[in-house]
Amino acid sequence: MAKVQLRNISKSYESGSNAVKDINFDVEDKEFVVLVGPSGCGKSTILRMIAGLEEITSGELFIDDKKVNDLSPKDRNIAMVFQNYALYPHMTVYENMAFGLKLRKFSKEETRQRVSEAARILELEPYLERKPKALSGGQRQRVAVGRAIVRKPKVFLFDEPLSNLDAKMRVQMRTEISRLHKQLEATMIYVTHDQTEAMTMGNKIVVIKDGVINQIASPLDLYNFPSNKFVAGFIGSPAMNFLKGKIVDENGLRFISDGNSLNLNLVSILDDKLKEYLNKKVYLGIRPEDIYDETNKQQISSNEEITVELEVVEPMGNEIYLYFFIESVQFVARIPARSVPKHGSAKKLFFDLSKLHFFDAGTETAIR
Ligand code: ADP
Repeated sequence: MAKVQLRNISKSYESGSNAVKDINFDVEDKEFVVLVGPSGCGKSTILRMIAGLEEITSGELFIDDKKVNDLSPKDRNIAMVFQNYALYPHMTVYENMAFGLKLRKFSKEETRQRVSEAARILELEPYLERKPKALSGGQRQRVAVGRAIVRKPKVFLFDEPLSNLDAKMRVQMRTEISRLHKQLEATMIYVTHDQTEAMTMGNKIVVIKDGVINQIASPLDLYNFPSNKFVAGFIGSPAMNFLKGKIVDENGLRFISDGNSLNLNLVSILDDKLKEYLNKKVYLGIRPEDIYDETNKQQISSNEEITVELEVVEPMGNEIYLYFFIESVQFVARIPARSVPKHGSAKKLFFDLSKLHFFDAGTETAIR
């Protein structure tokens, strides 16, 4: 297996679009790295440059310390699994998996061994003689993965491989790919726009927006310490709530929202960085799960009470989502499913002050 390093990599398409800018990250041997970001942010472009399917405009790409910018795709020993599976419809599952080896002139025996091994790992043995059209979406995706496995590549690349599957199958394939990663001890780079996929699968996540890396971190660090407002809002579902306001000193630090309807005492937050923002504009951020109601507020040590009018109430079974407005900004809170409050009713809620996030209102970078 192998490590991959990207150094100052940029890509401009002929149409003039600057798809990715100054990309730097390392993928260690046996690591599972996820590239995540909204559609059009440049994830596939980065993956395709690693595969050699797209020319690198500037910067350097290394595989196992060897510069491979000018190496053709077939000489990079990388296998890519695509969103649309790209199976040959007239070939059986066996033939589809064997095809790449045949092209590379592997012996019949070696081919048979490798395909059997991949079919065993992916539990495709009963389907080897079937054509793709007689398979479910999940099975087709496994064949596409099998075709990559038989080549024993240095690096596996996955480009949104689960997008065409239904929700249940996606969850199942997610765990299968994670298991496969451990079993094969392979280096894998996985592209998705789905933050849940990124959080559950990656050891290391690279968050990209508009062709620029915004943060590289472990799932929990991304969640707890987002580097800016974009990452904070992108990671986590439902998304973090934001409200603009300023930090003031009125017998201690307070956050006062622009419309004055939220006034939070920040004395319990001992943070020198926050003091530097005295009388400056900031965004307050709070995750839906850090807002409590009377039934569970005893779990938090320092809180501020607010009373809101419930706009929408969504009982999810295991919990309830409450939607309400603060100064025409919609907020959502996740509370335990005890009794379902009525929409339109007033409700006391409690912000966990230890979990507040703050962002510079201009640069949107995290203050704490
Ligand atoms: P993602 O995979 O994150 O959805 P892409 O890497 O496919 O994003 O695209 C990044 C940007 O580059 C987009 O603005 C897209 O329109 C542009 N782009 C992608 N492929 C081409 C191409 N072949 N020619 C011109 N522009 C392209």
